[in-house]
Amino acid sequence: MQMQSVVHSAGVREMDRRETNQKWYYSFDEKRMVIILKEEPEEGEVNEVPAKYEVCGTCNGKGSHVNPSIDSNGLSAEDFAEDRDFEEMYFSGGFDVSCNECKGNKVVPEVNWDSLTQEEKDHVTQIIDDHYAYQMEMAWERKMGW
Ligand SMILES: [Zn+2]
Repeated sequence: MQMQSVVHSAGVREMDRRETNQKWYYSFDEKRMVIILKEEPEEGEVNEVPAKYEVCGTCNGKGSHVNPSIDSNGLSAEDFAEDRDFEEMYFSGGFDVSCNECKGNKVVPEVNWDSLTQEEKDHVTQIIDDHYAYQMEMAWERKMGW
């Protein structure tokens, strides 16, 4: 988790995690506990790195979160003051949906950074940065209504 905040571009933290595609890798092989980085790696490129399970950072291990369509633009005290039923529903989990990132598993595969060489770390970091830069661009375009 700590590693993520280092490698992700600053603007990503301002985006709603629930609406951001967190899957920066190609696939995860649970049997072998490896993350497969790209669908089509360059020749000779490292394309598998060891993985470990981490508590999901989107739902903090709850497996669910409030539907982002309800509050991703922020809610104010007035929103609740005007509608007590809404408030009760909101705080009792009535608007909760299965977590967008872990799909209710409460944990997600994370790169086991400690076991990587520096070269591998740089390679993976680059892939993650590219993914989030692209996500930010997409979010920005959506915001602009393109
Ligand atoms: Zn989750």
